[in-house]
Amino acid sequence: MITTDSAEDLVGFYVNGVWEKHRGHGTVPITNPATGTVVAEVCYASGADVDRAVRTAHEAFLKWRDVPVVDRVQVLYRFKALMEEHAGEVASILTRENGKTAEDAKMEVRRGIQMVEVACGMPTLMMGDSLNDVAREIDCKTLRQPIGVCVGITPFNFPAMVPMWMYPFAIASGNTFVLKPSEKVPLTPTRIIDLLGQAGLPPGVLNLIHGGKETVDALLHHPLVRAVSFVGSTPVAKYIYSTSAAQGKRVQALGGAKNHLVVMPDADMPKTVEAIIGSAFGAAGERCLAGSVLVPVGEAAGPLLDLLAKRTEAMVVGDGSQAGIEMGPLVTSDHCKRVAGYIEKGVAEGATPLVDGRRQKSASGGFFLGPTIFDHVTPDMTIAKEEIFGPVLSVIRVETLDDAIKLVNRSPFGNATSIFTSNGKAAREYSSRIEVGMVGINVGVAAPMAFFPFAGWKNSFFGDLHAHGKDAVAFYTEQKVIMSRWF
Ligand code: NAD
Repeated sequence: MITTDSAEDLVGFYVNGVWEKHRGHGTVPITNPATGTVVAEVCYASGADVDRAVRTAHEAFLKWRDVPVVDRVQVLYRFKALMEEHAGEVASILTRENGKTAEDAKMEVRRGIQMVEVACGMPTLMMGDSLNDVAREIDCKTLRQPIGVCVGITPFNFPAMVPMWMYPFAIASGNTFVLKPSEKVPLTPTRIIDLLGQAGLPPGVLNLIHGGKETVDALLHHPLVRAVSFVGSTPVAKYIYSTSAAQGKRVQALGGAKNHLVVMPDADMPKTVEAIIGSAFGAAGERCLAGSVLVPVGEAAGPLLDLLAKRTEAMVVGDGSQAGIEMGPLVTSDHCKRVAGYIEKGVAEGATPLVDGRRQKSASGGFFLGPTIFDHVTPDMTIAKEEIFGPVLSVIRVETLDDAIKLVNRSPFGNATSIFTSNGKAAREYSSRIEVGMVGINVGVAAPMAFFPFAGWKNSFFGDLHAHGKDAVAFYTEQKVIMSRWF
């Protein structure tokens, strides 16, 4: 198990309940974004490794599906207890490889644990319906049965929580699972899966492999894989959706985002500013729910931007493992350069930098960029249209609520949005007319709640059944109707 900053550490696979490490198919370095130093290397899975993991999961499925659901969830109860015990340790591993602050990391682990808590309700959640005497002396009932080997492919920004949107629900409902987390942040899922093994999960029920496109392709094309859950960027989500669906696999693919925060003149400005800071710059803007475009309506712009610029200038940026840090680094050097490139593009296209994050330099060698706000952005500018996935907030001023709704609805993305107002009618109108999957009212981040479903609309989601909540139970089970008559 990797717990040190030694570059000799190799992050391997977990197949059939055994940890394996081999360099055969290549390795990729994992860096601590706060220092830029290599903390470990991750092994990439070959086609043969993928085949072995899927076949192992399939073998395990033939037994696991027959374990009574009340016994299956006992493993999850023990897992939840172990996660509670090791939450601090998991959060610190997460900060080390992802860069988010200790507070953010703890909150992410908490949300992951909530997924396990909800999945523990599977005996109730997967109940079917029944009706006697649908015809004379004929009874009818529905069953929910597991579907087989399910796959999870997850992004770098929530290495603990996003995989837990998937496998607790999948395995509690009797499936087996192969997880392929982001190759940038494999240490966190490695530690968590180790805890799941300690909780007594039978070998093969959950398998962990690593890799990039080649590994993913081998999973998508494997005939024993029945369902694919994906979370990541929109181009990859589209690819995963079309490739999996073309092979008859069940698929849910959650994609990227460009989230708008609308502020009415009657909003409580100090509280709204705090919510915007958390939304736009929390986790360095590397959240699919991050506010990316601020839309002040009418007179809201003046007081809002004054307060927001002052508060943003005062933000404390640094190594997320240290106390008092409000924003950590970006995940990799490449990503940091990409986000800085968007700032340059914003300047070049004529937006007005109100706060310029490029001024924030780091002595530590980490991938730091301060929070940036652009004013007078127009809807046709690149920074208004594309997902930046960093701490950059673009301000588009509009005159009326109607203008705001039209602006937001023109976006090809539809993941999340928020409105800030003290007027219930405006909030009601906005939440009803807006073509977005998750809406916050005076809430900067409409965070995923384990007991509710989670996904965006339009180019932010490809599929039908959303992540977690009751949708996860439907996604990971197949319904069967049984009609019976006894002579
Ligand atoms: P990404 O799309 O680059 O990678 C996601 C996963 O796909 C990783 O496991 C990666 O190895 C794999 N992958 C990457 N390129 C691939 C390819 N060409 N073919 C097959 N697999 C490939 O995403 P990321 O950079 O890790 O994460 C950030 C993105 O995820 C952002 O766009 C963000 O909005 C999105 N995201 C969305 C949600 C949501 O709920 N909608 C949640 C979190 C993150």
